[in-house]
Amino acid sequence: MQVNCLVLFSGGLDSIIACKLLQGQGLGVTALMFITPFFGYRHRGRAAREQERIRADYGIDARIIDISRDYLKMVADPPHGYGRYMNPCIDCKILMVKKAMELLGRFDASFVASGEVLGQRPMSQRKDTLRVIERESGAAGRLLRPLSALHLPETVPERQGLVDRSRLLGLSGRGRKAQMALAASFGITNYPTPAGGCVLADPILSARFKRIFAFRSGFDINDCLLAQVGRHFRLPDGSWLVVGRNQVENQRIDSLLSAGDIRLEMRSLAGPTALWRPVEGGLEAVGLAAGILYRYVKENSGPSEVVLSGPVASEHETRMQPFDRQEILTVEQPAVDELLEKFRF
Ligand code: SF4
Repeated sequence: MQVNCLVLFSGGLDSIIACKLLQGQGLGVTALMFITPFFGYRHRGRAAREQERIRADYGIDARIIDISRDYLKMVADPPHGYGRYMNPCIDCKILMVKKAMELLGRFDASFVASGEVLGQRPMSQRKDTLRVIERESGAAGRLLRPLSALHLPETVPERQGLVDRSRLLGLSGRGRKAQMALAASFGITNYPTPAGGCVLADPILSARFKRIFAFRSGFDINDCLLAQVGRHFRLPDGSWLVVGRNQVENQRIDSLLSAGDIRLEMRSLAGPTALWRPVEGGLEAVGLAAGILYRYVKENSGPSEVVLSGPVASEHETRMQPFDRQEILTVEQPAVDELLEKFRF
């Protein structure tokens, strides 16, 4: 009878190799690609297409699973803290392994594996933290790291003979040469570069997330997606203004409008779209929000008009669509740019 396992799958080279090593031993491998607003979210609603691509490119059976709800709870206050930026790598791994352990039964799988490499990352891939991840996820003895297994204690599937330890690897450190050679031996050439993927580890975006987590205590998926678009301002009343930098961002901002938001656009001048997320019941800063928008219009002089509108729920209330209420506000461009810099984050 075939033995099955679940492999945490980021789409990066190490996770691809972990899958291929286990497939090479005759195991049934299902790759779990967890997504949140901070990584992989572009695949949401298009899971079938990405799963098909992974199958075609690597011969791996993948499942894309949205864990945003639990992730947002964790990222606000991760028990093991953040890495260099807002990346809670240890708790992120613990959560993913825990989720994978919960799915073992559904996939008739015996254990979980990951592409972690000892010593590759300063925070989450030290020997002691690998142990912490295993223990706190409830996977003690059942989390196999095929790329570094020879540096780590024997796991239950190895002891039970489900996996042949002698065919696992003893990689460590940050180099990628060995992984690249292995990929070539599996006939895989089109794997992604190591950087990128998780916006929590991005120096600029993580600084913004830090502010947002602090001033929006109940932040949600939409807040986290909005944080990744446009120029951001926190106005003196605590409200949040986002101004698009190009057409693509203007469209993205429109798609993220939700109940309570105000959309701003110049009435007769070409310019960006802005989304203003007021504090509850506080509309005093609307003039400032409109003025900031006007600041980003190229051809401007004297007073001009800004159209304010609010989205209304569509019939099914699943998506907001513009707009049934509209107001026109006459504004002057703010005179002092330093003032804008004070609000920008
Ligand atoms: S970089 Fe991001 S996705 Fe990767 S372990 Fe850290 S928090 Fe998780």
